Amino acid sequence: MNILILGSGGREHALAYKIAQSEQCEKLFVAPGNSGTARIATNLSVNPNHFDDVKDLVISHQIEMLIVGPEDPLVNGIQDFFTNDSALAHVHVVGPSKEGARLEGSKERAKEFMKTHHIPTAAYQSFTASQVKKGQDFLATLTPPFVIKADGLAAGKGVLILDDLHEAQNALDEMLTQQKFGEASSKVVIEEFLDGIELSVFVLTDGKNYKILPNAKDYKRIGEGDTGLNTGGMGAISPVPFADEAFMKHVENDIVKPTIEGIQKENINYKGFVFIGLMKVGNQAKVVEYNVRMGDPETEVVVPRIQSDLLEALTHLKNQSLDQVDFQLKDETATTLMLVSAGYPEAYEKGKSISGLDQVNEDAIVFHAGTKSEEKQIKTNGGRVLAITAFGNDFKEALAISYKYANIIDFEGKYYRTDIGKDLENYSN
Ligand code: ATP
Repeated sequence: MNILILGSGGREHALAYKIAQSEQCEKLFVAPGNSGTARIATNLSVNPNHFDDVKDLVISHQIEMLIVGPEDPLVNGIQDFFTNDSALAHVHVVGPSKEGARLEGSKERAKEFMKTHHIPTAAYQSFTASQVKKGQDFLATLTPPFVIKADGLAAGKGVLILDDLHEAQNALDEMLTQQKFGEASSKVVIEEFLDGIELSVFVLTDGKNYKILPNAKDYKRIGEGDTGLNTGGMGAISPVPFADEAFMKHVENDIVKPTIEGIQKENINYKGFVFIGLMKVGNQAKVVEYNVRMGDPETEVVVPRIQSDLLEALTHLKNQSLDQVDFQLKDETATTLMLVSAGYPEAYEKGKSISGLDQVNEDAIVFHAGTKSEEKQIKTNGGRVLAITAFGNDFKEALAISYKYANIIDFEGKYYRTDIGKDLENYSN
């Protein structure tokens, strides 16, 4: 089978790494890819949001499976584009329809879905530009901190958590009347603050059946102690030590099952990954968000922990026979540590030569995120540059290896957080 993965980050490298191991994989392409994917697949140059160009590639390379890495093409309807074109009907798109992708593309839609299907989440209300006063009055009835979210996609910047009521009321006004986050904040969701610890649960579904993939915890902020600006993610650990068997059973029964049943009841065409962002409050899980694709850097720890043939499982999505797949995970712990460019997540320079990659042994896998090959050298080509994934019997053992290579691999301006996993030291796994 010929497969095309859309995207260019560590997530896509990790997916390509796993798919390439399958006996069913004949030719593997990644578009646009990076210098890591170029070593195990053929990179093709395309913008994943230009569907006609993607279609040309799919036809010319006789692609049978299209795996969509990032959310934008899904929210923009790439699955429907392929399904509605009779010349492309044989192509199996891994990812939900545009309607399914609204679970990520609209926070109000996600909250309504959760309410309808009795999925535990923070209490909320949503407001439009004509309801600023009503929204401000609602804020005054809540206890701080106040959680205010732009309804649409805002690259992780559309969520404000504020302690001061007046500041929150002003922020609401700015979002609704001045569209601070553009069209994304033409509607705003205000929700109850959840005081707990976050983790993510990943699910593969054919719209009827599901398989639970490894869970993970990521580290979002640039600075030590999870401070400073939000990033795409600075590291991740899987499995999550505080997500024990009883907790995961509760997550499966009270969150995963009703989510998949809800998708089925609402007749949503959803054949792909579901990323469920959770807050563990006491022993209870509440859904913070749905994403309709895998996370990055979580994929760099989740995918290497899948024992079974992932490509084989993906082939079962098309005819909704995922229940026939014997899906096994590995027991070992995986950690990943992101090396980023100086200045990230604000302005940073590209084109710095990377050294030390040839010193990485079998105890780790370096997934490329923002890299490119130039003059026979691998150079930085993004804010997040490399994800160093390592394995161990517990997260401390795995992290020691990730950090060992973080020291060895080098480029001008290299930065990484030194405290990944520090918050988990009281947990045994
Ligand atoms: P964007 O759409 O801008 O990309 P996002 O999808 O990342 O944002 P959320 O996941 O809903 O937005 O929220 C971002 C972060 O804000 C969460 O990971 C969590 O840390 C925090 N957060 C969101 N909602 C709540 C809440 N109700 N209580 C506490 N923290 C929250």
